[in-house]
Amino acid sequence: MLVVYSSSSEEEGDSSVNTGSQEHGENSYPAKKKPKIEQLSTKTKLPVPHCVLNMFSDELDAQTEDPSLHGGRVRSFKHERGNWATYVYFSYNPEEEFTDIMEDLVLVAKRHGIDLMPQEEFHVSLSQTVVLRHHWIQPFTQNLKAGLALCKRFMCSAEKLKVYCNAEKTRTFIGVEVSAGKNQLMDLVKVVDKTMTEFRLETFYKEPSFHVSLASCIGDLTWQMNSFLKELQSIMDKQDDGPFILSLNCVELRCRTGKKVFRFPLSPEN
Ligand code: AMP
Repeated sequence: MLVVYSSSSEEEGDSSVNTGSQEHGENSYPAKKKPKIEQLSTKTKLPVPHCVLNMFSDELDAQTEDPSLHGGRVRSFKHERGNWATYVYFSYNPEEEFTDIMEDLVLVAKRHGIDLMPQEEFHVSLSQTVVLRHHWIQPFTQNLKAGLALCKRFMCSAEKLKVYCNAEKTRTFIGVEVSAGKNQLMDLVKVVDKTMTEFRLETFYKEPSFHVSLASCIGDLTWQMNSFLKELQSIMDKQDDGPFILSLNCVELRCRTGKKVFRFPLSPEN
């Protein structure tokens, strides 16, 4: 079943509403009656509530445009009311060991002069971040649900660190790349890409490198991060209980659109 799991208000409206009003000409009313009408209109005119005014605003949303509110990420598109940033992913719930590793990665990067910011939530992306108009959300998620109906659960693992940069070269990520489970992820990308194509949205990388981003920094610091990647990898490899292997139980695909999350449970293997 398709379930909305964390819901935002539905008020992000379509800005294409015609707010024009019909005007009366100067000579529409008899001269003697005019003052009466004016007096009546100033008395009965109520202020339009802000929530209604905002429904028709097409301006930038200052609050969501603040990069500090989304982990320092810089949008590649202008945020407008009615435009919902959307992506498809598997969520990863970190275990305790992972949190310790993360702290060590941040410390090592700091020694190399790089301020790494740990991700606020962890996931494996199966799509680009695309923009959906509000009225597309329902058909889009239904289409995705239909495509995923026969897809089965599986396990993924990841252990090698890799540096990623976004297309705009505004942020560099350190991620752990998926090794086992790539074929199943690729099959799911085909399903997701089909929906994207039907809605004329951008498809995923032709050669995806599936990963869980751990932390990121501002700018394109790919070269600098790669220069001490081995040192970072040794943190992963030299854990007390042996190399840290991130394992991800892929039982439920999710689609985040704005603040809403839609869940798509995959079917049990047998
Ligand atoms: P994510 O944690 O999924 O948001 O990914 C972090 C960044 O890696 C995104 O900005 C992606 O655009 C970027 N990236 C660069 N190359 C790739 C690739 N081959 N496959 C997946 N993501 C990539």
